[in-house]
Amino acid sequence: MKRNDVSDVMVKIVSLCKRRGYIFQSSEIYDGLASCWDYGPLGVELKRNIKGLWWRAMTQLRSDIEGLDASIMMHPNVWEASGHLKGFTDLLADCKDCKHRFKVTETQENRTCPDCGGELTEARHFNLMFKTHMGPVEKKGTIIYLRPETAQGIYVNFLNVQAVSRRKLPFGIAQIGKAFRNEITPGNFIFRTREFEQMEMQYFVKKNEAEEWLESWKEERMRWYHTLGIKASALRLHKHTQDELPHYASCAYDIEHKFPFGWQELEGIHNRTDYDLTRHSKHSGKDLSYFETESKERFIPYIIETSAGVDRTLLACLTDAYAEEEDRVVLRLSPQIAPIKVGIFPLVKRDGMPEIAQKIEETLRPHFKVFYDEVSSVGRRYRRQDEIGTPYCVTVDSETLKNNTVTLRERDSMIQIRLRINEVIEKAKKLIGGEI
Ligand code: ATP
Repeated sequence: MKRNDVSDVMVKIVSLCKRRGYIFQSSEIYDGLASCWDYGPLGVELKRNIKGLWWRAMTQLRSDIEGLDASIMMHPNVWEASGHLKGFTDLLADCKDCKHRFKVTETQENRTCPDCGGELTEARHFNLMFKTHMGPVEKKGTIIYLRPETAQGIYVNFLNVQAVSRRKLPFGIAQIGKAFRNEITPGNFIFRTREFEQMEMQYFVKKNEAEEWLESWKEERMRWYHTLGIKASALRLHKHTQDELPHYASCAYDIEHKFPFGWQELEGIHNRTDYDLTRHSKHSGKDLSYFETESKERFIPYIIETSAGVDRTLLACLTDAYAEEEDRVVLRLSPQIAPIKVGIFPLVKRDGMPEIAQKIEETLRPHFKVFYDEVSSVGRRYRRQDEIGTPYCVTVDSETLKNNTVTLRERDSMIQIRLRINEVIEKAKKLIGGEI
């Protein structure tokens, strides 16, 4: 795709998101806050569906993973132990003339400002964690941080969860929650923001089984993105080279998605070794080792981490689903994640059709998120639902009045079938995949 086409597609998706209530700019009436976004009525449904499927895949369909919801603010020593206070930094330089700030690399030779050509200052490290104060007095001892990843909340609760669930290795702890990073160059809509949500699972294993589990989780996580309906050709794995590895990992893969702006990371899968639990044991003075009853051995488990971004996954689903056809724009979202599952219409606003359609709406509502619409021509109503990704529409027409049948239209093929009103629920359940 040419550069112009890329920005064109993103502009169209951003505009659709705003127009149809997927995503709004944060604080828009105050001209917005850079890189912060609010999920509107449809966006929040899509987001909940994605998170719901992840939670189900991790904590319901598997018997070896427990859930957790740790607090965003943690003891400041956590970040000392994790290495974030020292190591979670970007190298920055300021322009002496226009005062703009840029991310630079250690070896970068060109030290002129890309905006005005002015001279850049010496580069210095800038920590990406947001700092704030706890309590009413702003003194050094009260500094705390907004977590830059949810993982640490899991590590510090390792023994709590293991004890109450009486788990033996291998087992995992899953968590979904907000994370904050004072990114220098946020952008590409919700791809890189300063406030975002993560879905992280930390899997505790024996050292000699770590590599095997890393391979197995890499496969399982790829399969999960396929179940979201993302095209296989738009997903790939990238194995980190030695100099790409984060400070805590001995081996890592990224799951990447082909966004309109190129291949980019969706999820990181890391062998974090015994780094985190060893560091927390040292810094807290609490023994976070595990006792294996069979071998009578005590050791610090290794951790395999799967770390995904909710917002990036949502953007991947949207960009992958977006299609322009001759006379319509359609979001080919998988029925499982689509915000609205069924649109219900009377063909015209008379002859008792609205009443029948509303009855069908009432019957479906306990099972699915549905939408009743009687405004404007039925063709326009179909287009409106296509544009927001509604996979099925049920229409009451003059034949309904004769034989109690309605049409069920499929979004992608636009094929319509006729079925009896009392068959609609079962058919929809079958097509959509259960009650979501
Ligand atoms: P990147 O290299 O893109 O900055 P990262 O390697 O720092 O990402 P991780 O620390 O591995 O990312 O975080 C795990 C996941 O959290 C990422 O794969 C991504 O989906 C999500 N994530 C990380 N930073 C952001 C951000 N600033 N905005 C949105 N999502 C993010």
